[in-house]
Amino acid sequence: MVGKRIIAITVDVETDWGGRAETIYGIDKELPIILNVLKTEDVPATFFISGQLLMQNKTVKKVILKIANDGHEIASHGMNHNLNYSGLSYNKLFKQISESKRLLENIFQEEVIGFRSPQCRVNKDLYKALSQAGYKYDSSVVSKGIFPGRYSGVKTPIEPFVANGILEIPITTIPHLRMPLGLLWINAMGIETFKFISKVMNFTDISVLYLHPFDLLFKKIEGNSCPSPSADGFGPLRWSFSEASKRVGVIVNKWYNFKTANVVNTFTELIKYLKREGHRFLQLRDIYENCLKKT
Ligand SMILES: [Zn+2]
Repeated sequence: MVGKRIIAITVDVETDWGGRAETIYGIDKELPIILNVLKTEDVPATFFISGQLLMQNKTVKKVILKIANDGHEIASHGMNHNLNYSGLSYNKLFKQISESKRLLENIFQEEVIGFRSPQCRVNKDLYKALSQAGYKYDSSVVSKGIFPGRYSGVKTPIEPFVANGILEIPITTIPHLRMPLGLLWINAMGIETFKFISKVMNFTDISVLYLHPFDLLFKKIEGNSCPSPSADGFGPLRWSFSEASKRVGVIVNKWYNFKTANVVNTFTELIKYLKREGHRFLQLRDIYENCLKKT
């Protein structure tokens, strides 16, 4: 890694198990830890917030309001995280993304210009719909990822590009390994391995890292003692925590079976390492502004 490269930390805020469960352990217990690390290290981040969370209960609202109070960027993660956005009609897609923008702007009293699709699912209408809804950038595409279908960006450019007036700032893929630059992946390979890989491989000038509050959660919390969101009329798939953990299967259970302290260490170490290497931390809205100036 050379020069002043840019890193954007992005956090997708949704219910547990990637929005598959209705519980909010991640938000309740882990989001404050993420905010604490960011504050201690003095780095800004962009938070993509699922609109349905804010319709649900006051606890969530209180925790989420802290994100903006800490100076981080608020962006949209759509309304309903259980919907497959790549399969929606144009009108339904537009409704999801415009409603979530309005909701977030009402709550946070600031303009929301960024979007990330739930589960990073995109279709050809997305940029047109985003443009019509007044967004400025999107960060849903995982360039050259290894999950065809799930991440639709197999052949997309690695660097930011403009489509239908929307700046796409792709989630970075770890070169050659073709894994998205996610905290869990880095934690799984180990921070020392990641440092080695990042030294011998070239990263893009702008790198986008992602994580979820739930990523930090040590899975072995049983029962449902956290305040659970009330029935919201969204999506058919609302599982309890244990039901979701059963349904997503043994492999995913293992994958999520990390100790919170380890993931927090990885996160902190990663930030410190990137700082030492001379990287600059920016929010995606700042990257958007910088790209505008260049063109
Ligand atoms: Zn998500």
